[in-house]
Amino acid sequence: MKEKSCSGAKAADRAAPVIAVEECKACGRCVRACPEGLLSMSKQFNRRGYRYAEYAGQGCTGCGLCFFSCPEPHALKVIRPERKQ
Ligand code: SF4
Ligand code: SF4
Repeated sequence: MKEKSCSGAKAADRAAPVIAVEECKACGRCVRACPEGLLSMSKQFNRRGYRYAEYAGQGCTGCGLCFFSCPEPHALKVIRPERKQ
């Protein structure tokens, strides 16, 4: 079964965090790390019983600070499309 992920990316040319909901352990580090305040913890729980990080859906600069703050190897990645020349 494909694992649920949480991303606000609506177009392939936008930077966005992608959270693997079932890998998140609700530590909140990415929420505190985002300089734009775009991440928050869900009200729902994943199958392991943790809340998970959610993206506001727009405004991501692709800075990667959330990715580098996350201690879970597969919980969070950041899509950063190549800049067009
Ligand atoms: S890449 Fe940067 S701006 Fe985007 S969600 Fe992560 S910390 Fe916030
Ligand atoms: S830093 Fe990683 S494990 Fe912690 S809340 Fe964010 S996505 Fe979940």
